[in-house]
Amino acid sequence: NASNVSFIGIGQMGSRMVKNLLKKGQEVKVFDVVPAAASSVPGARVCNSAAEAAKDADIVITMLPTGDDVKHTLTQKQGILEGIPKKSLFIDCSTIEPKMAQELHRISTENGVRYIDAPLSGGVTGAENGTLTFMVGGADGDLKEAEPVLNKMGAKVFKCGDIGAGQIAKLCNNLILGITMIGTCEAMNLGIKLGLDPKVLTNIVNVSTGRSWSSDTYNPVPGIMPNVPSSKGYEGGFSVPLIAKDLYLAQAAALSCGTPLLLGALAHQIYRTLILQGYGDKDFAVVYEYLKGQSKN
Ligand code: NAD
Repeated sequence: NASNVSFIGIGQMGSRMVKNLLKKGQEVKVFDVVPAAASSVPGARVCNSAAEAAKDADIVITMLPTGDDVKHTLTQKQGILEGIPKKSLFIDCSTIEPKMAQELHRISTENGVRYIDAPLSGGVTGAENGTLTFMVGGADGDLKEAEPVLNKMGAKVFKCGDIGAGQIAKLCNNLILGITMIGTCEAMNLGIKLGLDPKVLTNIVNVSTGRSWSSDTYNPVPGIMPNVPSSKGYEGGFSVPLIAKDLYLAQAAALSCGTPLLLGALAHQIYRTLILQGYGDKDFAVVYEYLKGQSKN
């Protein structure tokens, strides 16, 4: 391990990614604004600020909710820039707006720090199993340096283009995900209401044309699959506000190039409504429970 690695944002994804780094022999310094989250991974060295975590680091990784959170963590007092050595590499793995990625790159460069965007897909299961897919925007040399560390947390690393291109790929992926999850929930709810056994329906869909990650890896109906949020009261996983954020980011990006997102807009409004209905702290598969509650019988 040539690199000193620091990790900021030890939430649903970050905690599992750090566990895999440690498992593969990489020492990690961590920071989270919530102390209980920061100390949730045994073996990681807990720091009291982002600056303290970034001190002496060759690579600093962030896994935070929004672009504003990343910018704040970078530039605030006791933030990353106050600690990170010049020429070190800052890898942002959060899902944020492509334009913000470009702004973070500009700020980093002005401060002598290299930056790439490396959002990822695979959910908490992929994070747990170290099978994430990374989508990287930035310079080839920086990607080459990042790859050994990314490979400890994931199975695939794609170069997408210049700064922000990783975020564009991620927004397109999550546009499909946000829509597909709702479609899967609607179909499962309909089949169950009409009397089908949900396990039989799932087995059919998973070898038929309706199959998707939402049906075969993250089924939204409780009891179909073990260890997914739907079977654990929709706790943990990918929260409704985070998928709503991604669909909002996709809308904003689509507006910037004049492209309509018809189902994307509707899906965005559905997740926003779920937040208003009190599902804001649940995994996004909770759409199934919501639809079930809306049905007669
Ligand atoms: P999360 O809310 O579980 O974790 C975020 C963590 O960041 C929390 O522990 C929070 O305390 C911490 N945090 C917030 N502001 C901070 C700050 N200023 N300094 C330090 N720590 C701070 O979120 P998550 O589900 O792990 O998602 C993180 C990012 O990854 C989001 O952009 C999300 O869209 C994306 N993502 C999530 C999933 C998923 O399945 N959960 C999958 C792919 C991508």
